[in-house]
Amino acid sequence: MHNRQAKQYLEFLKLSGIQDIYVLNDKQSSKDSKDSKDSKDLDFLAGKYADCVKCSLHKNRIKLVYGEGNNNAELMIISEGPGQEENLSGKPFVGAAGNLLTKMLNAINIEREDIYITNVVKCCPPGNRDPHPEEILACQNYLLEQIAIIKPKILLILGKVAAESILKLGLSLTAYREKTYLFQGIKTYVSYHPAALLRNVSWKRYAWTDLQKLQKDYEKLLNKEN
Ligand code: URA
Repeated sequence: MHNRQAKQYLEFLKLSGIQDIYVLNDKQSSKDSKDSKDSKDLDFLAGKYADCVKCSLHKNRIKLVYGEGNNNAELMIISEGPGQEENLSGKPFVGAAGNLLTKMLNAINIEREDIYITNVVKCCPPGNRDPHPEEILACQNYLLEQIAIIKPKILLILGKVAAESILKLGLSLTAYREKTYLFQGIKTYVSYHPAALLRNVSWKRYAWTDLQKLQKDYEKLLNKEN
């Protein structure tokens, strides 16, 4: 607003009966806008939660594995929990299962950097055990917050533990894979955990059919936006 316009506006406010106007100083207003940005900034949130002690998994933590990828991703992958290599690096799916996941995604023309990858628990369970229900619950709000910020159009859940943590339908993995679901209003697929595919190579062909279904939806979505 130019000076003359500002003067006229103040005159108008005065005539309307407004006597006092409080102006935030520059520092205050820039702090406010930073705070509101930070509450949606995933890197900032990852740092904020780095020393979380909401459950006992923190005792085994070297690095919190918050999540990684594109903050505006249309596809978000949610798996079970970090393993030891992820615990060391602070990044999800960096080990052998991660390599397979990258290859699976590339096979359906998806690059890791275009999507977002996270887990239902952000700290590595000791001895690579499944996360316990109270640990999943303690971490739940972090995941819900990530979904709310990223607003993906498709979720892909990997493995029975993650599927059960999120969808809570008490199904087998085979039954979970048969359908899609709406979680937080988002179309949700379930497929195999890549570590399970490394152990049981014969399941890869079923995983491939799951991925092809997802690819169709993902490409439809991207084409609509172009
Ligand atoms: N397994 C998972 O479930 N998540 C990871 O990040 C790595 C391995």
